[in-house]
Amino acid sequence: MDYSTYLKEYPDKDGRFGKFGGAYLPPQLVPAMQEINDAYLTICQSSQFINELRRIRREFQGRPTPIYHCERLSRKLGKAQIYLKREDLNHTGAHKLNHCMGEGLLAKFMGKKRIIAETGAGQHGVALATAAAFFGLDCTIYMGEVDVAKQAPNVARMKVLGTKVVSVSRGQKTLKEAVDAAFEDYMENYKDTIYCIGSAVGPHPFPMMVRDFQMVVGYEARTQFTEMMGHLPDVVTACVGGGSNSIGMFLPFVADSAVEIVGVEPLGRGTDVGDHAASMTYGSEGVMHGFDSIMLKDSKGEPAPVYSIASGLDYPSVGPEHAFLNALGRVKYETASDKEAVDAFFKLSRYEGIIPALESSHALAYAMRRAKEMDHGSILVNLSGRGDKDLDYVIEKYGYGDDFKDFD
Ligand SMILES: *Cc1c(COP(=O)(O)O)cnc(C)c1O
Repeated sequence: MDYSTYLKEYPDKDGRFGKFGGAYLPPQLVPAMQEINDAYLTICQSSQFINELRRIRREFQGRPTPIYHCERLSRKLGKAQIYLKREDLNHTGAHKLNHCMGEGLLAKFMGKKRIIAETGAGQHGVALATAAAFFGLDCTIYMGEVDVAKQAPNVARMKVLGTKVVSVSRGQKTLKEAVDAAFEDYMENYKDTIYCIGSAVGPHPFPMMVRDFQMVVGYEARTQFTEMMGHLPDVVTACVGGGSNSIGMFLPFVADSAVEIVGVEPLGRGTDVGDHAASMTYGSEGVMHGFDSIMLKDSKGEPAPVYSIASGLDYPSVGPEHAFLNALGRVKYETASDKEAVDAFFKLSRYEGIIPALESSHALAYAMRRAKEMDHGSILVNLSGRGDKDLDYVIEKYGYGDDFKDFD
């Protein structure tokens, strides 16, 4: 496979990455997705759109985010060197704003007045609420009643930003019901509303658009690393939930055949069904949420229950482009458990002064494991977000990390 033309070829015009992807939609929504697709393909070529997005990234988001060499941590592990792409320093503390600002700008260019989404832990909701405030768009976020109670700080943030948070009290009162409610809203209001998907998942064109908006991470990182070191990293890695921070980091390196690319999925408490969310590692092909990919299914073929200590990673499927890159063998997928992620969380905090998000800690845990096995070389980790949001939970469960601070 010649990867130099990869980005031109994938997805194809039907939104397919090989056999994965596509758009499985109720008939009413086919024209709405077509409209978004056509508008995006036109607008993303316009210099006005490109210049405005560049300005937003520089002046509002604080891009480019730096690359950082973890010298103390690396020395503890062995000879390989770990570097971080600091998406935790992006405005609002994670990579999610990269695609939310893109989606907001698209809504603005399309003359839409309103953006909506569902949110689980509230991270996507906060990023979208931020974009809505910036662009002066109305915003409604659907959230299960259980999550509203658990994630009070994020609910407060969204409200302060001027977003309407709808608490969904049917069924299990969590993410799935929130998705259903947001979808019903969209079916009624697609003429003036865009449903902004929170990762590189969903029907075409969302996996493509979210990827394109996130690729700024990998392009910056590739240039910065090369300027710093004079060569490319040996390994590039990122955590994989739906797959947005990882696809954005990976694709700018896809044609660099010497660079090994590794996605890291959450192994949670173990390999039993319901104890993890390692879709690529333990899943099989299927269709859910409007696209074809690799997913975790129960015996009836429905999405299986999933779990991870990192709520941003507990999704039972994975973006279709990851399924494709896995099938091609270009990207490898590994796992890290809750315990390994918590260990990485405390080690980065104590040895480098950076408190990482539990999601990002999975990628770091893999990098730390790998660094011990390598006798030279460099590993570049996408540190997708900061860990402030996780502090209360981690302290309650693990204290202040005294059990984790030493290296074995
Ligand atoms: C949401 C989130 C993720 C997981 O989402 P992807 O789409 O897989 O990137 C990872 N890290 C952080 C900090 C998040 O907030």
